[in-house]
Amino acid sequence: MVRMIAIDGPVASGKTSVGLALAKRLGFLFLDTGVMYRAVAWAALKFGVNIDDEIAVSRLASELKIEIHKPSHEDGRSNDIFVNGEDVTWEIRGEKVNNSVSQVSAYREVRRVLTEQQRLFGKQGGVVMVGRDIGTVVLPDADIKIFLKASPEERAKRRFEEERARGNEIGYEEILENMKMRDRLDSSREVAPLVAAPDAVMIDTDGRTKEEVVEEIIQLALK
Ligand code: C5P
Repeated sequence: MVRMIAIDGPVASGKTSVGLALAKRLGFLFLDTGVMYRAVAWAALKFGVNIDDEIAVSRLASELKIEIHKPSHEDGRSNDIFVNGEDVTWEIRGEKVNNSVSQVSAYREVRRVLTEQQRLFGKQGGVVMVGRDIGTVVLPDADIKIFLKASPEERAKRRFEEERARGNEIGYEEILENMKMRDRLDSSREVAPLVAAPDAVMIDTDGRTKEEVVEEIIQLALK
């Protein structure tokens, strides 16, 4: 029986929308691990911790109380995110966090702290977890591992449309640049880089609907 599904992939490859829909179909819990790294970057900016100071950022990560709850609004959020009791659901999606999250997530100790919390979540079973290192590091024993791909242009277009739907006026070019920068940093870091697990199923989502991709993964789960 399938208990854990790991989905990895670059920025805006469809991990969250596919993962959420899949979890709903299977009656599984869903965890988007990206929000945890975003929460650490947000807190560093908020509390004036120098992003370049690995020791200070690591200490901050170990002290933070990150809570992930079921979504309270149907406004496109996958969850409600609280940091030390403060609702940061949309703030962690902002430009400043986008520009610093990959640096923070390259720190070994930050990853150790968050990976431990993610594994605890995974232990419950009946879980879809999405991120960059789920199939390789967080849940290497996952029953199904998926690596989602899509062209940079298609991914930037999707993110552009999501931002516009939320009333944000961020330009396509800016989104594309930030996306490429994060993918480069995430893929080249020493600790837990963005890479497909050798036993992951690669799914190219270019030109495919969310429903088609979810159906493909359901078929894998039924095998
Ligand atoms: O998935 P999302 O784009 O929200 O993730 C934000 C950032 O968090 C990524 O660019 C990456 O630096 C980091 N991340 C990570 N490992 C994960 C999930 C996210 O390093 N498992």
